[in-house]
Amino acid sequence: MNSLNVYNVALQSTYLGMPTYVGQSKVNTFNFISERTWKRVQGWNDRPMSRAGKEIMLKSVAQAIPTYVMSCFRLPDSICENLRATISNHWWGFEGGKKKMHWRSWDWLTTPKFLGGMGFRDMKLFNQAMLGRQCWRLLTSPDSLCARVLKGRYYPKCSFMDSGVTRSCSFTWRSLMFGKSLLERGIFWRVGDGKEIRIIKDRWVPGVPCHPIHPIVQMPDDLKVSSLIDESSKQWNVELIRICFNPADAEHILNIPLSHNRVSDFVSWPYTKTGAYTVKSAYIMVKCVAAYLKESVNGKGGSSNQAAIVGEWKRIWSINAPPKMKIVLWRFAHDCLPTGHQLRRRNISTCDLCCHCGRHETIEHTFISCQYVAEIWRELKKRSGFKSLVKYFGSPRDWVSQMLAGCTEMEATILVIAIWHIWESRNAVRNGKNEVHPHCIVEKILAYVDMVLLHMFKPVPSNRCDSPRRKKWDPPPEGWVMVNVDAAVFQRANRMGMGIVIRNHKSEFLAAYRQGLDRIIEPELAEAFAFRQAVTFALGLNYKRAIIASDCLSLVQKLHFKTLDRSNTGIIVEDIKKMACIPTVALSFVHISRCCNEVAHVLARSADQLVEKSWFHVPPEFLWYTLCKDL
Ligand SMILES: [Zn+2]
Repeated sequence: MNSLNVYNVALQSTYLGMPTYVGQSKVNTFNFISERTWKRVQGWNDRPMSRAGKEIMLKSVAQAIPTYVMSCFRLPDSICENLRATISNHWWGFEGGKKKMHWRSWDWLTTPKFLGGMGFRDMKLFNQAMLGRQCWRLLTSPDSLCARVLKGRYYPKCSFMDSGVTRSCSFTWRSLMFGKSLLERGIFWRVGDGKEIRIIKDRWVPGVPCHPIHPIVQMPDDLKVSSLIDESSKQWNVELIRICFNPADAEHILNIPLSHNRVSDFVSWPYTKTGAYTVKSAYIMVKCVAAYLKESVNGKGGSSNQAAIVGEWKRIWSINAPPKMKIVLWRFAHDCLPTGHQLRRRNISTCDLCCHCGRHETIEHTFISCQYVAEIWRELKKRSGFKSLVKYFGSPRDWVSQMLAGCTEMEATILVIAIWHIWESRNAVRNGKNEVHPHCIVEKILAYVDMVLLHMFKPVPSNRCDSPRRKKWDPPPEGWVMVNVDAAVFQRANRMGMGIVIRNHKSEFLAAYRQGLDRIIEPELAEAFAFRQAVTFALGLNYKRAIIASDCLSLVQKLHFKTLDRSNTGIIVEDIKKMACIPTVALSFVHISRCCNEVAHVLARSADQLVEKSWFHVPPEFLWYTLCKDL
């Protein structure tokens, strides 16, 4: 050692904020995280803050403390529990040194806001999603130094996905395996040449209800998807697939687009647009499943319902009003405000009657049917033209969603502000203040609405940024051809059409092509198919310099990305990128506006039959008019 000038130094307990040595007791090693979080949150106790203020502080400061460590290690459950207690106790608050009632479970608080929660972090799950990201890196960059070292040590003979916990493995590896179990729940294979995907062990068929897929004939475990593809035509072997799978599964398989240029298979994360793993999407995936199950128990499952539920909660959070008021509306919808009725249910002995009229205090009474409150709504209607309240009160949540469904943006703002003021005035009276006249409350509400109007409603920017002069198709520079391409989707016939037209720098018509294709009805995929065909068509006609123009912006952006596109159009995108690499040709992919792409559009719309047709030098009659418009 000495001859190499390498010296031993004392081991430091942390390096860049990360513990360097994890001993037998993980709790001792990581306890510094819960202590640091607790201290930080304690420091805020003397500041009066609304729940909305606390929410921001907790989310941006306290929750961020363990993030870095979580990206490498699995925190012990007890540490996550400490963090949970610190955060939820602070949010619900303290009174006289004792913590206040937690009116909604931690599970609800950690559900994303669009599913009805408060969007706090479930530390354990977030930790797992962070570790999942490390696993994703090992999986998608197998040549990185880290991946090669770990492979040599833990999975020399199999793939990362088949690796597991061994008896003598390190804490780091155990942590990674924890992340991997989440990754496995979502990962999805995109079929390229099919040489890596195992038919019955991997997830690779989109749209089937259960994974992995079950063939109806016996198959070896490691049989690859490539055996279902016809090598020469690069198409699915339809007969074989119909023999091996039940009709529904077979259809799903046949709908998978195939590569023309031997793109390799790749993994994808189907919960993001790009198909790349993100911590947030993994976290939301798990939370959505949980929320879905919760709703199913209440008999509200089903995907259409799911979308409606998301719509309802998003509406609440998007109202133009101070966040603290929206939190009261959120608590209203969950029926977790401490009304007399709720207090009695939880055996808290206080006066549980309405402070205005002495009747039984349910949430409906507090906000709607109490005489005192009814007078507020009546006066509000008279003064501001606010709409009538929804009469039927099924559950607080239904009432809120029905009420908001009929509200303009402005009325929603008034509703939130009114509800908050009613609640505040009720609390003031219960805390010994004098009851004020309902009309004074209305006065306050209207003043507040005016203030919000002034500060929170932004003028709507006009969407018309197009120049008044209509944009026109421009011919390519000399020596180049312009290939315009478009796709049309015929939903009812389960079919797409594509149109391709080629013109030169003098705007002369050179060639056109149209074709209808079965089974493709997803717009971006249809555009990608048409684009690939356009490149093939132009190369087949021996044009060496071509500008391929599409009006599908997302597709053109994907074609320009250097990284592998892992989305569901990824295979076709990679196919096109491969064609552009041919050294003897120059291809340029551009995005143009719709009005510059009308010829291709008309051609695509006309391709609703499954016939293939091309024209050279003389355009078909039905295109004359549109072609002339471009001149
Ligand atoms: Zn009352």
